[in-house]
Amino acid sequence: MENLLEIRHLQKRFPVKAGPLKRTVAQVHAVEDVSFSIGQGETFGLVGESGCGKTTIGKLILQLQRADSGEILYRGENLNALPKQALQRRRREIQMVFQDPYGSLNPKMRVRTILSEGIRKHRLLPREEIPARVAELLNLVGLHEGDGEKYPHEFSGGQRQRVVVARALSFSPRLIVCDEPVSALDVSVQAQVLNLLADLQERLGVSYLFIAHGMAAVKHISKRVGVMYLGKLVEAAPTESLFQNFAHPYTQALLSSVPEADPLCRKEQIILEGEVPSPISPPGGCRFHPRCRYACPRCRTEEPQPQAWQEDHWVACHFPAVFRTGESAPAQ
Ligand code: SF4
Repeated sequence: MENLLEIRHLQKRFPVKAGPLKRTVAQVHAVEDVSFSIGQGETFGLVGESGCGKTTIGKLILQLQRADSGEILYRGENLNALPKQALQRRRREIQMVFQDPYGSLNPKMRVRTILSEGIRKHRLLPREEIPARVAELLNLVGLHEGDGEKYPHEFSGGQRQRVVVARALSFSPRLIVCDEPVSALDVSVQAQVLNLLADLQERLGVSYLFIAHGMAAVKHISKRVGVMYLGKLVEAAPTESLFQNFAHPYTQALLSSVPEADPLCRKEQIILEGEVPSPISPPGGCRFHPRCRYACPRCRTEEPQPQAWQEDHWVACHFPAVFRTGESAPAQ
């Protein structure tokens, strides 16, 4: 499969300023040496706790923030190095769906205005063709033509997220960054929105970067999954391989919190001890070691490098799948 997007060694740090002169006194290590790719028409799920850097990656791809170093290759062109005009053209092909559909829609605008705004601004269609395109967009996301006359507050949460998806589609994007798109919705509505995204992908061939903090939604929609912890990718694999043969203790902990439908298959839920360490001074060695039940002296001093675990499946841990060996944890 041809890559639509390739992220190489992406890094982003935010300065922490203090004092009357606002001097930089520290840095937040938000994204450190992250690499992954997304194929044409593919969904890559990015999962991890709040503050692990996954939303920052979405913003870097959208160029809402600039990376310190690394490459964001979109259709072979490095977005970080494109001149402004070329970047604006490419940016239209990459859209975002936010977590809070209500907050991302102007409450004073009718939906038809919301959906036609971008088309008009960027002159994507002749003026007389816009109403038909708006009707088509509403239809694509399962709303009625007449819904274009309504305001955002007249919709349910799930319907509002459909409007947000329709607005993203109005630019005919190739890639949509979905930042926790179902987290704010009722559980009963989440599956409907996920099914809509999957259906649109099949019909339009659009790719998704699907950002979430829970594994269940990611499993539902992703072809491949990357697990992030404190600014770093710690494991990445095709979805089935990750869910069946996960090898990183952090992935194990995340997966242990996914509820099983069958009560006979209940597994032990792993509660991670302690808070996520501060990204201002991340722990040395393996960043996960203060919370890892298998940590040994080597983990505290030596940073684990990504290593192949299975086909197209890698993990950054000194003792991959240590929890499956049946042996005790390495010596403390
Ligand atoms: Fe745990 Fe060590 Fe693996 Fe890090 S490298 S996840 S501390 S076992």
